[in-house]
Amino acid sequence: MLDHLTYTAPEPKIIQGAKQDWELVIGLEVHAQVASNAKLFSGASTGFGAEPNSHVAFVDAAMPGMLPVINEFCVAQAVRTGLGIKAAINLRSAFDRKNYFYPDLPQGYQISQLYHPIVGEGEVIVDMAPGVARRVRIERIHLEQDAGKSIHDMDPNMSFVDLNRTGVALMEIVSRPDIRGPEEAAAYVAKLRQIMRYLGTCDGNMQNGNLRADVNVSVCPPGAYERYQETQDFSHLGTRCEIKNMNSLRFIQAAIEVEARRQIAIIEDGGKVVQETRLYDPDKGETRSMRSKEEAHDYRYFPDPDLLPLEIEQAWVDQIAGAMPELPDEKKARFVKDLGLSEYDAGVLTAEVENADYFEAVASGRDGKMAANWVINELFGRLNKEGLTVETSPVSAAQLGGVIDLIGSGAISGKIAKDLFEIVWTEGGDPAQIVEERGMKQVTDLGAIEAAVDEIIAANPAQVEKAKANPKLAGWFVGQVLKATGGKANPAAVQDLVARKLGQ
Ligand code: ADP
Ligand code: MG
Repeated sequence: MLDHLTYTAPEPKIIQGAKQDWELVIGLEVHAQVASNAKLFSGASTGFGAEPNSHVAFVDAAMPGMLPVINEFCVAQAVRTGLGIKAAINLRSAFDRKNYFYPDLPQGYQISQLYHPIVGEGEVIVDMAPGVARRVRIERIHLEQDAGKSIHDMDPNMSFVDLNRTGVALMEIVSRPDIRGPEEAAAYVAKLRQIMRYLGTCDGNMQNGNLRADVNVSVCPPGAYERYQETQDFSHLGTRCEIKNMNSLRFIQAAIEVEARRQIAIIEDGGKVVQETRLYDPDKGETRSMRSKEEAHDYRYFPDPDLLPLEIEQAWVDQIAGAMPELPDEKKARFVKDLGLSEYDAGVLTAEVENADYFEAVASGRDGKMAANWVINELFGRLNKEGLTVETSPVSAAQLGGVIDLIGSGAISGKIAKDLFEIVWTEGGDPAQIVEERGMKQVTDLGAIEAAVDEIIAANPAQVEKAKANPKLAGWFVGQVLKATGGKANPAAVQDLVARKLGQ
């Protein structure tokens, strides 16, 4: 299916300006909020932006005696996401308690899946350039609860806690350290986001924090990664640092770059990189230590006694698999193969699922390339300029299709079509009707029309005198010309010519 792509081995980014060459090795842990109405173990709403502490069930607040109840819908979304990255689905998984103290974690532990995640190994095809892709292996996806939010900047003397987010379902998607550069890391997150948005399993709104990544970075001399690949022995790789909670593709790239340089400087100075968790400061353009390995939590993971192991049936997984929508890679391949689009155009049109849907509605029953041209150049160009999206577009897919049909039938030229698009954009309406009413139809042979007008005028000098005195009589000439040309001439063009010749 995806044989139109050229897979390249991950191409290491080589850091320049150092004493020797260094390559980057990156692995990501992406936290994706499940797009569900209710939380993972309670019926409380997941609605964003609500009054603080208004979406909190007793179990979210860890009231004594409350028991978690698994949300089947969230499990289904994790399964769908797993199938979307061609991963193994584990029919038996289990929940563990990850114990730590924090004011926004009333239970004193987070329910997660350390030992038996619901989704096993998969892969993500990362698009690097048109037709060029890389495979990033996925180690696992597990389900876990999100924590609440501590607010430290509302009062000089107090901190506040908002538990609305407590217990919201997250999918943690863990990659192998297969990512070799900042751009690839950003493209990887973008691809995961795209897949999940096609599936509807995560909104992928990075600004709202419902998609965020912990970025693990290490550096190694050339050749070391190949030895790791051959043996899967991590000791060939450098010591990694983890940059926590990144929620912007731009910052992910910048953070990787500065973190790699920091590590190289330490090693070239004869020092050793310490495995630790760091934070990226976009204002200062640096990462700084959050906690070192010595301070690392001992989470004392153990199976959550309140929850039975999660057993799902293959038949249920098959049913979910049977109802999967077309995914971005397949859609893109189909646009290239069946509609004859370039790899680049297909990539642009499939980037956002809403755009792909709009394009498909325009292209249905029409020439694919022409539809792609109009959607990408005219529509997207205009939408971008106005800060709109296909969802807020003043021109619907049906209207744009109507414009294209008029070009296809020869009723209007490509040039007139742009004027027509402009009219539909600003005034709305049915393109065919607008073309009819405003006489925008193509005049194939203006010279022939002019000759016919001249002939009628020359043959009727008396009528010309009358019409010059009474402009209303010009209509008689128009009728004569239309008759003489067998009704093929554009009435508006004839009207214009007659008026001009009569000096009106
Ligand atoms: P932890 O749970 O302590 O964060 P994991 O084994 O789950 O550790 O690994 C976390 C992430 O770190 C994974 O995405 C993995 O690919 C990545 N990773 C592991 N070793 C390295 C390394 N040497 N360089 C870069 N990334 C790494
Ligand atoms: Mg980690």
